[in-house]
Amino acid sequence: MSARILIVDDLAPNVHLLKVKLQAEYYDVVTARSGHEAIKIAEKERLDLILMDAMMPGIDGFEACATIKQKPSTWHVPVIMVTALEETKDRIRGLEAGADDFITKPIDDFNLMARVRSLLRLKMTTDQLLSHSKHEAVDSQALMSKIGARKAKILIVEDHVKHAEKMAQPLRQNHTVRIETDPIKALRAAKAGMDLAIVSLVSDSFDGLRACASLRFDEKTRDIPILVIGDPEDTSRFVRAYDIGINDTVMRPIETQELKARVNTLLKRKFYEDSLRDNFNENLEMVVADPLTGLGNRRYFERAIYPFFDALETKEIPFSVMVFDIDHFKRVNDILGHDMGDQILKEIAARLATNMRAVDVVSRYGGEEFMIAMPKTNEADALVAADRVRSLIAGTPVFVDGQALRITTSAGVAQVQKGEQLRDVFKRADDALYKAKHGGRNQVVSASYKEAA
Ligand code: GH3
Ligand code: MG
Ligand code: MG
Repeated sequence: MSARILIVDDLAPNVHLLKVKLQAEYYDVVTARSGHEAIKIAEKERLDLILMDAMMPGIDGFEACATIKQKPSTWHVPVIMVTALEETKDRIRGLEAGADDFITKPIDDFNLMARVRSLLRLKMTTDQLLSHSKHEAVDSQALMSKIGARKAKILIVEDHVKHAEKMAQPLRQNHTVRIETDPIKALRAAKAGMDLAIVSLVSDSFDGLRACASLRFDEKTRDIPILVIGDPEDTSRFVRAYDIGINDTVMRPIETQELKARVNTLLKRKFYEDSLRDNFNENLEMVVADPLTGLGNRRYFERAIYPFFDALETKEIPFSVMVFDIDHFKRVNDILGHDMGDQILKEIAARLATNMRAVDVVSRYGGEEFMIAMPKTNEADALVAADRVRSLIAGTPVFVDGQALRITTSAGVAQVQKGEQLRDVFKRADDALYKAKHGGRNQVVSASYKEAA
């Protein structure tokens, strides 16, 4: 699905010109010829971006933008104001009306596409954040304006201190700004934690493109958004900068409003993405229980046994793991059906859980495989425990749907060795399980078991 862009302009040739340019980039284009019509379309249709002419008879672009930015159903759609080149005050008015950015007529293609791409990326992040948030639309708006208004740490990389100061001054109203004139020091500063880097391509003493590349190359700084400053005739260098992975550009002479608007968009996206990542990690942490059996899942298991690895490494306290697998479970499913299979799985899970110690970590690791970790237990003791549970399961029929079924399990047991990773010990336990299956099932085999030659 391509992004859908609304073009608003009272003059038909202007609408047409923009439409052709955007359609050539495969965007889906909708048009409106007045501010009033724009507001109506924004309410009715899913839009990803609005290109709004400032000067229109009736409801002008500023008013239409302000209305769209106030409505709970449309506030999150980015708006680019299209203003006349000489009207600086129009751009300020546009930003005051809530516009996210602006471009000036006559419209330059490179600049247009850069603006469009940047704001569409912001829109994608907004959508993700909205779809993840449990809040109502109004709460989300409040939440997102709070995230978007955060104070940021901005790094300016520019060897001309006076130029750097001129950029820094308006940004200091809301953010902390640090200026570095040397790219190596700049990289060090960025590694310490920055929310945005502004890199000059017109510095005399260093190559700005190289500075951008080193920011992108370092693992610690590769997610920091980069805004590049350059001259309009540097187009080929801007193109290379985008190839390196920079996020946006501002041309000299720098207009304060423009700089602030671009910085604002980049920071919003950065903060929204950070917040998405935090939410995502929180959600991941919550999903540790297997819904069928109520046991912990693989993720839970992997976390729960960290302390056992620690105790082994630091205090030489042994621990063992075992893998239980239901015998001929495919056949059980084939004969009795998948639902009955599920009932059996639940029952086996319950028996494993109730027959192990409280300190043991019991999990459903995969389909019909259960992984158990026993702290402070060596392989010989674990083997005894596993065999006791195996015999309990085999010795008591499982009742499902009024039928008494004899279900057996096989298990592989391994003691974790110092320096070993989970996957290594899992492999040894799994190999032992394979031997148990091979040996006739309904039995337990330990990893150190050697077959007679
Ligand atoms: P073996 O004794 O060698 O372990 O034979 P098996 O048939 O149990 O082994 P195999 O790994 O070949 O098949 C496992 C089967 O477990 C396949 C799949 O249908 C079934 N299974 C896995 N997860 C579930 C589940 O959640 N519910 C049900 N009902 N069946 C499952
Ligand atoms: Mg299996
Ligand atoms: Mg099986």
